[in-house]
Amino acid sequence: MILRRLLAILLCLGLAVPAYGATQEKYVALTFDDGPSGRFTRALLDGLEKRNVKATFLLCGYRLKDYPREAGRIHAEGHEIGLHGYSHSCMADMCQEELERELADTMALLPEGCKPAFLRPPGGKCSEAVLSAARQADLGVLSWSVDPKDWASHDAQVIGQTVVQTVRDGDVILLHDMSDSSVEAALSIVDELKAQGFRFVTVSELARLKGVAIQPGKVYQRF
Ligand SMILES: [Zn+2]
Repeated sequence: MILRRLLAILLCLGLAVPAYGATQEKYVALTFDDGPSGRFTRALLDGLEKRNVKATFLLCGYRLKDYPREAGRIHAEGHEIGLHGYSHSCMADMCQEELERELADTMALLPEGCKPAFLRPPGGKCSEAVLSAARQADLGVLSWSVDPKDWASHDAQVIGQTVVQTVRDGDVILLHDMSDSSVEAALSIVDELKAQGFRFVTVSELARLKGVAIQPGKVYQRF
């Protein structure tokens, strides 16, 4: 009797687990820091458009000033925009007043109708004051869970392989639209992971799909 019940349980587990795994969708978010940046951002947007993929761009105020057209295109093409500070200086070293100015000055340069949901402080470095400024500005604090260090490697193949070999459902991938190798790597990551059944969504969409309601001033690494 006990043996038969055990067999039934094992059969259930054996049949149910693979079936569940096979049908479950896998979602990831590509995030790009430090832009907008002229031709790299344009090449990336062309590639993402061709692949019908939406990403999240964490923009710097001092670069928004130089590349308003690229920022407008990011917004118009349905990507998500978040803040990465105005000056790209370490936010963890700033007082409340400096932080508020960094955020307000960057917000003022965003494309019309763009309402950011996230702040990613440069280097991901946080302090109580950073969390408090994010809370006041109604922003979640976005970290990441996959970092191929594309800014240091400059080898598209190495960057791509690092991501493809480590990525899991719900991950937030950190890249920069600041070099040819990063753009090439990003697009190869999309092609490779799409072939493996991953879907690419914005960070806000990833949170929604995973049932996470973003709380201002809270840090998120993955969903
Ligand atoms: Zn940065």
